[in-house]
Amino acid sequence: MIYKRSSELFASAQKVIPGGVNSPVRAFKAVGGDPVFIKEAKGAYIYDEDGNQLIDYINSWGPLILGHAHPPVIDALVERAEKGTSFGTPTELETKIAELAVKMVPNIDKIRMVNSGTEACMSAVRLARGFSGKEKIIKFAGCYHGHSDSFLIQAGSGAVTFGTPNSPGVTQGTAKDTLLATYNDLESVKQLIEANKDEIACLIIEPVPGNMGCIPPKEGFLQGLRELCDANNILLIFDEVMTGFRLAPGGVQQRLGINADIVCFGKVIGGGLPVGAFAARDEIMDYLAPVGSVYQAGTLSGNPLAMAAGLAMLQELNDRPAIYESIDKKTEYLHNGMEKVLEENNIAHTINRMGSMISVHFSEEPVVDFASAANAASNGKFNTFFHSLLENGIYIAPSAFETWFITEALSYEDLDKTIAAVGKAAKAL
Ligand code: PMP
Repeated sequence: MIYKRSSELFASAQKVIPGGVNSPVRAFKAVGGDPVFIKEAKGAYIYDEDGNQLIDYINSWGPLILGHAHPPVIDALVERAEKGTSFGTPTELETKIAELAVKMVPNIDKIRMVNSGTEACMSAVRLARGFSGKEKIIKFAGCYHGHSDSFLIQAGSGAVTFGTPNSPGVTQGTAKDTLLATYNDLESVKQLIEANKDEIACLIIEPVPGNMGCIPPKEGFLQGLRELCDANNILLIFDEVMTGFRLAPGGVQQRLGINADIVCFGKVIGGGLPVGAFAARDEIMDYLAPVGSVYQAGTLSGNPLAMAAGLAMLQELNDRPAIYESIDKKTEYLHNGMEKVLEENNIAHTINRMGSMISVHFSEEPVVDFASAANAASNGKFNTFFHSLLENGIYIAPSAFETWFITEALSYEDLDKTIAAVGKAAKAL
């Protein structure tokens, strides 16, 4: 495929935007080469500035669970835009989407809208600290909760892709309050709790991480965390920015039957517009201003365009629960097909999957935590794999530390094309 115009646009962008991008992973720095500039998208496909059609497995990094430019979402947006784009006042739309979210997600009474997943997680931790009166937090190596200071300690996603999991600019004072545990390892959590008795406000986790590739929790791990949190008066925060409204209408809490104390959302809840949210039971949410004293605010929070897109998305997911079974089946089909062609070509690999999240790691060792994900990524095979797929019209995230997102817009024909491209990539490895 030809990417001439994308390369020209990237050269211009680099002169006026740091690295030519507004979010680091987009730059293809980890895999090499110039990023693809996208012109438009519809359903399962994106079209770049050189006129190439690509089957998309990034889907805006998760929000577009029903595919690009999904008609009910676009209709809702167009209708809303004509009535004004922002008021900074309460609107009925905000109550409608909140009512629906509270209905779909178990174990929450109230939800507050923000503008990104970062804001959702940052606010959730402030709320947990305000509620508990304690300061330290536990996070897991390789989990990504946005780019707020407290989270850039052994973070996943772009932070690890670029070798800066601990970012300069985060003060020692902030870093010392973030304690680091190992995903799928309850013992590591127990040790931190033991060493910091009565000092830990909350434990924040991607219950099914997607930022070191997809990593399913081991049997009993999340339940074990719930019990440890209960026994030690620690709030359990599920960062469901990726998994919320994706792994089930009610996210991981519903799919795996484990309740968190605070839940963070992003991506799907905004239907492709900039939305994040955090939610909990009344007793916790009522600590937030203007009812309580934990301050949190936003000029564009609950923006009518964003709420219209999010509401249209959630309504469809709520009305058509069969979508979940359908995307899970598509993901399973892709998994089986990729497994077969990688085996036929004797490529050492591990495919991790839960629901409609899936990732391919080039190692035979189980990928269960950050260390094993990093080990699998260290042989550089992913980069060859990525470029071969791109050459064959398949667009996956340009980093070994990301998940693929399967959408309802993908047809079985698209999946077969993808499996064939994986077979070709296997030969290139
Ligand atoms: N939490 C998780 C689990 C995420 O995957 C992300 C983004 N990929 C974030 C938080 C941050 O969200 P945003 O990029 O919208 O700030």
